[in-house]
Amino acid sequence: MDLKLAGKRALVTGGSSGLGEGISLALGKAGAKVAVNYRSHPEAADAIKGQIETAGGEATTFQADVTDSAGVAAMFAHLDSQWGGIDLLVNCAGIDGPRADSWECDPDQWRRVLEINLIGAFSCSREALRRMIPQKSGVVLNITSVHEKIAWSGYSAYTASKAGLSMLTKTMAQEAGPHGVRVVSLAPGAIRTPINKSVWSDPAQMKDLMSKIPLDRIGEVDDVAKMAVMLLSDAAGYVTGTTVFVDGGMTDYPSFEQGG
Ligand code: NAD
Repeated sequence: MDLKLAGKRALVTGGSSGLGEGISLALGKAGAKVAVNYRSHPEAADAIKGQIETAGGEATTFQADVTDSAGVAAMFAHLDSQWGGIDLLVNCAGIDGPRADSWECDPDQWRRVLEINLIGAFSCSREALRRMIPQKSGVVLNITSVHEKIAWSGYSAYTASKAGLSMLTKTMAQEAGPHGVRVVSLAPGAIRTPINKSVWSDPAQMKDLMSKIPLDRIGEVDDVAKMAVMLLSDAAGYVTGTTVFVDGGMTDYPSFEQGG
């Protein structure tokens, strides 16, 4: 199927590792021009740009912390001057923060998670929508998590940020829909990336994880990247204001498998 992404101008935040890296590479392969945002590892972003270019695609890199509104504005201005705007935004930058019960959390660390995962995604979406609305086309894809829906003890900031991002998606989709712009969330389950290395590198934690996944395997970056590309394409042209879960069935709650 031709996804008609050739020449589309895409920005992926947190694009230099894990899911952002996979989505950047998959978009490049599908023919999109890809801007790889990174916070602190230019060499990783450059390597992804190099891979896209070697395969015949077009890419650029841009350093910006998504919590720095001036940096975010400069990133979009850079895209304006380089490519004349943007068609696709993937808000992928995120952290889960240190584990602590809510009454033990450091308030600054708690706030930092919200600033990156929710307010950072809002700032980038705001800049993107200001460009997409007048051109009457575009897609914003927010990477949430199964924890937009499943509580996660010790990670109250993370769950609050992802639930907030899910509702932000729905609201922005309502606003932008009449202008021909779609806003969608993709909620990954447990995917093997640097963010959860402590889980997939520990056999005991992996055994526990498998009890939560009907498909009985950890997700791979490619599982998410393929769905992201689909959602960003016209193949998903009637999908907006909703979350697509890519979780091996985790939100099917397999602990109820035996009834009872
Ligand atoms: P990752 O740690 O490889 O990627 C996170 C990226 O965000 C990194 O590149 C990091 O540099 C970037 N980042 C962090 N703070 C930033 C900031 N202030 N400004 C710009 N960039 C910043 O982990 P990942 O698994 O690829 O995570 C990507 C997204 O997917 C996150 O939003 C995460 O919550 C979400 N997610 C991941 C999983 C999973 O199992 N891996 C599951 C659900 C959701």
